[in-house]
Amino acid sequence: MSSSLFNVLPLSKSMLSNLDSLNYHEMTPIQAESLPMILNGRDLIAKAKTGSGKTAAFGIGLLHHLKVDFYRVQSLVLCPTRELADQVAKELRRLARATHNVKILTLCGGMPFGPQIGSLEHGAHIIVGTPGRIQEHLRKGTLELKDLSILVLDEADRMLDMGFEDSIQSIISQCPSQRQTLLFSATYPDQIAKMASDYLSDPVEVTVESLHDQTRIAQNFYELEHTHEKYLLIERLLAHYQPESTVIFCHTKKDCQDLADQLSNDGYSALALHGDLEQRDRDQVLVRFSNRSCSILVATDVAARGLDIKALDVVINFELPRDPEVYVHRIGRTGRAGHEGVALSLVTPAEGHRVNRIESLLGDTVKWDDGSRLNDQQSAFKEPPMVTLCIDGGKKNKIRPGDILGALTGEAGFKAEQIGKIDIFPFHSYVAVKRDLGKAALKRLQDGKVKGRKVKVRMFR
Ligand code: ADP
Ligand code: MG
Repeated sequence: MSSSLFNVLPLSKSMLSNLDSLNYHEMTPIQAESLPMILNGRDLIAKAKTGSGKTAAFGIGLLHHLKVDFYRVQSLVLCPTRELADQVAKELRRLARATHNVKILTLCGGMPFGPQIGSLEHGAHIIVGTPGRIQEHLRKGTLELKDLSILVLDEADRMLDMGFEDSIQSIISQCPSQRQTLLFSATYPDQIAKMASDYLSDPVEVTVESLHDQTRIAQNFYELEHTHEKYLLIERLLAHYQPESTVIFCHTKKDCQDLADQLSNDGYSALALHGDLEQRDRDQVLVRFSNRSCSILVATDVAARGLDIKALDVVINFELPRDPEVYVHRIGRTGRAGHEGVALSLVTPAEGHRVNRIESLLGDTVKWDDGSRLNDQQSAFKEPPMVTLCIDGGKKNKIRPGDILGALTGEAGFKAEQIGKIDIFPFHSYVAVKRDLGKAALKRLQDGKVKGRKVKVRMFR
């Protein structure tokens, strides 16, 4: 198809040139299929894998229909987690750069209520949030949806998994019945079909091939008699592949924590990510993994949803998921953007039927590896390239990335390329620096000032 350029769509010139500046030249398949319908005002059910560009699909639609002079909430995007809501809001802001004065607000749980009320009083065009918190604002009367024209349910299957069904229902009951509703979901279980028939009106359905380009992901399966043998194999796999970033999927929070603890005790750089973590610890784990100062993340499926890592080297399934689509979803996190990915699955005989289901979904047999090809000289485990410094000041102290960069570069003597990702939260900021410079950068920040004030700084190794 030669017509997958954005300029075939009836978009404003400024939107088109903004897309160009974002290096979005061609539409992704889901965008090509759904955007004409979305721009036409149709309700939509879209089924597509992670990383297929769903955010821009609805984002461009929301912005196209937005009346900037009308200072009311015109669109609402519901997401399963705060991390995802933050990512969506970030992408919407990038897309909205071409339009002046678009106010986009995130409303999520785990954040203080008061400031959200304040922001709402200032007005917003687009709200992105998690269902629980949105419902609370509606109940308190601090949010009103009577002028809403577009509702987006992003990752609807995950929202149901997380028990948000009632909240979603209650929110929808307060939306005008004349509206456009867009539902995005990676999987399409019966519950989603029911939701679609309850809340959508004459929707078009768009499905984009849910399987990844298999050639870019090397998949190997390993059979083990007992679960307790899995740890040793994981060590051999890490020694063999020497990955810089790995996600290991486990089912339970306890398994995640135990495995991460065991790896840490054995000298690996590993952290657990699961639903029992406090929001602040969760932020910290995601920051440290995504800025390359932690190399192994042991996560549950739900917790790993918020992860947006461009180049994950290896995905390990400590256990296979029951649902074969979850398998496809997990391994799709490696081998993105042209990188060759590696997905390794550890299987005990009890999980055999899960392999069968994966094979029938893939339409192919899986490849078993007996492990003999693994080169497992106990080479020292590669340390992550960066370390994280945590500064006790953030957005509330008006700290911006440039302030932190400025405190380390220039007179301070560090080069910009020695400094990695900078993440600013309301009360904390994180900066990644090259590992061998960690101590020197720590001292520099402790002795100097950021934004004109002394700050407390800690280093995570
Ligand atoms: P999904 O929600 O489907 O998992 P995202 O919306 O997060 O996927 O998009 C995945 C990545 O693809 C993002 O980094 C986004 O910036 C990028 N992207 C989206 N649309 C395009 C496009 N048309 N061209 C290039 N990159 C795109
Ligand atoms: Mg998404």
